[in-house]
Parts: sequence; structure tokens; C-alpha cells
Amino acid sequence: MQEKPEIVKLQSVGNLRVTMDDYFNRLKTADETKNKKIVWCTSVGPAELLYSMGFEVYFPENHGAMLGASKTADKYIPTAVAHGFSPDICSYLTSDIGAFLQNETPLQKSGFKSVPTPDILVYNTNQCREVGDWFSYYARYFKVPILEINTPLCINELTPSIIKSVAEQFKEIIPELEKVATQKFDIDKFRETIKLSHDGCVLWRQVLETAKNKPSPINFFDSAIHMGPIVVMRGTQHAVDYYKILLAELQERVRNGISAVPNEKLRLYWDGMPLWYKLSSNAKMFASLDTCIVASTYCNSWIFDALDPADPFESSALAYCKLFIVRADEEKEKVLTNLLSEFSIDGIIYHESKTCPRNSNNRYGLQNRLLEKTKVPFIEIHGDLNDSRCYSEEQSIISIETFIQQLANRK
Ligand code: SF4
Repeated sequence: MQEKPEIVKLQSVGNLRVTMDDYFNRLKTADETKNKKIVWCTSVGPAELLYSMGFEVYFPENHGAMLGASKTADKYIPTAVAHGFSPDICSYLTSDIGAFLQNETPLQKSGFKSVPTPDILVYNTNQCREVGDWFSYYARYFKVPILEINTPLCINELTPSIIKSVAEQFKEIIPELEKVATQKFDIDKFRETIKLSHDGCVLWRQVLETAKNKPSPINFFDSAIHMGPIVVMRGTQHAVDYYKILLAELQERVRNGISAVPNEKLRLYWDGMPLWYKLSSNAKMFASLDTCIVASTYCNSWIFDALDPADPFESSALAYCKLFIVRADEEKEKVLTNLLSEFSIDGIIYHESKTCPRNSNNRYGLQNRLLEKTKVPFIEIHGDLNDSRCYSEEQSIISIETFIQQLANRK
């Protein structure tokens, strides 16, 4: 049997490590020396506003993903369950709170005593209601203020009244943030962070769009790792600098015909959350099947290119309401139809994530309607983002292999 060529690793991983280490060092310094205030923020919360006011910004969801990727979430979820959190709710939440209750964090390897102590917490309900309960737990524990931006879910048409209401809420939290921040709100600084966030998001979009090339220089598993800076450093020069490096490497790969999957024959779309505890084994499995996952709902979620420094509040409201997870199925179908064609997709994998209904798009018939419209076949796999007990690996591998065989036969 002919040996499969090796996957060529992205060189930018070294820069990614440095960028992320520097971010965590800034947080650690703020925690230890109190030279800056620390705000906890949701992953699609108002990061630009917070950075513009001089906060260091910590993201519990990023911590949740670290627990999943380090395969330690299962150790912590039962502790949160014993404290009254259902095993059926968000496993980022349960693993994060469980780890906190056990006083453990992967950040201890980087010299942290525990997760950085918040001075204030801010969340946006645009992704789900769970974030409110999650952040409220910590607000009660640390006895610090908590602020909410309340965004309606399942938005079909983005009406001016929705945008206005969300933009007003961005403005309304400023006086409360100023009570904690070391710096007063400054509209010019806000415009500056909005510009940096916009530029970082455009670069991130360009990174993901390199996967339109055949073969693709990047796959979903690379993107899930390299999205770190756009999640936690959106609105800073650090994210912009990093994505310039990554984009240049990917463009170089395209010029030289280097692909993420050495022998790309099939191109898939991944809908839903990653299985964090299976990231590297899934990357190897799909590569061995000559299949590249070229696009995903998850990684596309951090493209906030509607941000505009000329109109920072309204454009923030628009960018954070336009987000895929906030939209009604009708809008999601339009987005997916375009992506399937732009990325030349042969098939779709829907990951129905047990504890994240908001990121599982196959629960209300969208998958069948999309099949009818686009004729792109799909399979559904059942698992979870962090709770590996919800995932039957053997069964899923059989389904995936059979699906890929069927797609290959169609070609
Ligand atoms: S969107 Fe899903 S994974 Fe993210 S915080 Fe909400 S429930 Fe958890």
C-alpha cells in the first residue's frame, strides 16, 4: 500500500504561541500588580469598547475551549453538576465552573495561581442565555458588578429598531464601566479599537477565504486553533499583526500548491462547534480520507467586518447582531447556500452538540431544507463541544467514512 504523505504544519504556529503567551502575560501582570483593571467578556461581547477603556479582557469561553482541548473538561463537569448545574447545559460553563471550584486551570502552567480576578463582567446575550447565568455565578462569587447587553435571538430582518436598541445599550454601559475603569471613555480611542477590530476581522476573513483555493492551504482544525487572537485580542494591534503573518504564509502556500490535506479530493463544510477533545485525531482522520474541511460556521463567526470607526456604536450593534448564531433559520440558510457554492463544498457535517443547542443547526429541519435547495448531501453526528461522554467515536467514524465513500462515488 502506498504511504500517505505527511501533513505540512503551518509555520505561523510559533507566532501564534508567542501572541497568545503575550496576551496571557498581560493578564497575569494586571492580576498580580493591579496595573490595569480586568474585565471578563463573552466571546462575541463588546471587546472593542472594553479595550478602548484600558481594560485587560479575559474570555471564559476561551478558557472553556482550553479545558476541552486539554481533555480535562470531563474531570470538572461533575463538580459543577454537584453544585446544581445541569449536565445538559453548556459544557463550557460546567467545565469552567467545575475547574474553578477545584481551583485548577491550564493557566497554572503559565504561572497563574488561578484564573485572573475580575473587576467587572460584561456579557451580550447575542449567542445564548447561558452566558448570563455563567457570568452571574462569578459576579456573585467575586462580588463585582455585572453588565448586560440584551440582544434578541433568532433575528430575521435586522430592523433599525433592533440596531438602535442594541447601540443604545452599548452607550448605557459606559458610565458603569467608567466607575471601575482607570480611564474615562474616549470616543477617539473607541474609533481606534473599532478600526483595529475591523482590520483584524478582514484579515481573518481573508485567512478563511484562502480555503476557496483548490487545494485548500488551511482546514477547519487549523482555523479552530488560529482563531485565538481574533477571539481574545479583537480591537488590538496584536491580532492585526498576527493575521498578517498567517495570511502571508497561506498565500505563499497557495502559490506553491501546498495543501492542508496532502491529497485533497473532497471538500466538506462543518456546521456547529468543534469537538475540542478530538481536534487533532479528527484532523488526522479526515486527512487520511483525503478530505479537507474547508469552511465552518464556527470559525466564520468572528468576521465582524461591519464595524466602522465613522459610526462606532451603530456599526457595533450591526456587527454583533448580524452574527450567524443570532439569526433566524431563514437567514442562516441564505448564508449557508452562498458558502456551499463559494467554497465548492461536496458535503456537510452537522455536529449536533448536546449542550449547545444555539450552535446546533440541524434541530429544526434546516438540514433538509438546505439539501432540497442545494443538493449538497449531509450527515449528522452527535457529540458535544467539551463533554466527551456525549460522543460515540466508533459510531461517528463509521458514519463519516461511509459518507465520504458515498461522496467519492458521486464524483
Ligand atoms: S453558545 Fe453554546 S458553547 Fe457558547 S456559551 Fe452559549 S451554550 Fe455555551
